[in-house]
Amino acid sequence: MNKQVLLAQRPDGLPTKSTWIFQEVEIQEPKEGEVVIKQHYISLDPAMRGWMRDGKSYIEPVVVGDVMRAGTVGEVIKAHNHPKFKVGDFISGWGGVQQFTTTNAKGYHKIDPTIAPLPMYLGTMGMPGMTAYFGILKVGELKEGDIVLVSGAAGAVGSLVGQIAKIKGCRVVGIAGGKDKCDYLVNELGFDAAIDYKSENIYSGLKKHCPDGIDIFFDNVGGEILDAALLKLRMHARVVICGAISQYNVTEKPKGPGNYMSLLVNRATMKGMVVFDYAKQYDEAIIDYLQWMKDGKLKSNEDIYDGIENFHETFLRLFSGNKLGKLILKVLE
Ligand code: NAP
Repeated sequence: MNKQVLLAQRPDGLPTKSTWIFQEVEIQEPKEGEVVIKQHYISLDPAMRGWMRDGKSYIEPVVVGDVMRAGTVGEVIKAHNHPKFKVGDFISGWGGVQQFTTTNAKGYHKIDPTIAPLPMYLGTMGMPGMTAYFGILKVGELKEGDIVLVSGAAGAVGSLVGQIAKIKGCRVVGIAGGKDKCDYLVNELGFDAAIDYKSENIYSGLKKHCPDGIDIFFDNVGGEILDAALLKLRMHARVVICGAISQYNVTEKPKGPGNYMSLLVNRATMKGMVVFDYAKQYDEAIIDYLQWMKDGKLKSNEDIYDGIENFHETFLRLFSGNKLGKLILKVLE
């Protein structure tokens, strides 16, 4: 049998238990050209909140009544004349929040668990890793000596952005919620400083840790943090709009940046990014990540919870911040 989580209704604000339908159905047999994947791990991403919203975006919203969209890694357990995959292959793709996926596997790619552990293919070697790499290097146009500020710094994307910037010879300041996360950034990941936005005033934190301003602000959070960071831009600074998690569950209009005139004064740019635009170059990032990890220059942290039954509570950790690094749900051994 296959346990699945379907989108029951579009939430208004933070998702509740009634946002989802949990059901158990028979595993679908593969038709010609299809495979059945036993999913081991499911990726829990802030973007999933956006995919639940109706309206124009970079991707179609999840249809109410469908299995909730999510990135997965799993093993092919049945194949019916599939052109690319055979039984025993480990593959990653959009398998959804379910234990078994029967699919033509279009858009899936093969992964090798002997090169990196399976969960890492949902983090550093997967979508968040690619976002951090291309976001800071290509969109942020990172240069040696830059002063880099990153919000959501202890998360999947932010923790990698900061580490890449350190590897490239920059000063890096992170913004995260709580003392433990801030200590982790400085003591474990080598950030130069961290601001705890939950206990410190963000404006005074920036004044203290970024006295000379910032060349790049890599923003995962939006809202007040974005607004405060804009006041610290140096000449020709770059603001990378990667995400705005503080605004994903608001029920009114999202808060826009009041301090945007700082872009004009400092001849700065603010640019949005979507990771999928870099799909053809992902191998470049994989090679660098593997080398950096091998050289002990970069740490990958996956925070793994157990059981598809715990999907709702685990998903909410993205918004409470009650997790460290990449949030993953283990669904089957
Ligand atoms: P993540 O950072 O691992 O998890 C989310 C973190 O956001 C939480 O741990 C929490 O950390 C912080 N947070 C939650 N609510 C907040 C609030 N109201 N104010 C400030 N911080 C808050 O998630 P991720 O996967 O790395 O994604 C980070 C961002 O990148 C998200 O905005 C996501 O949508 C975006 N993203 C964009 C792309 C793209 O292509 N543009 C691709 C992937 C991800 P604290 O404990 O520090 O509060």
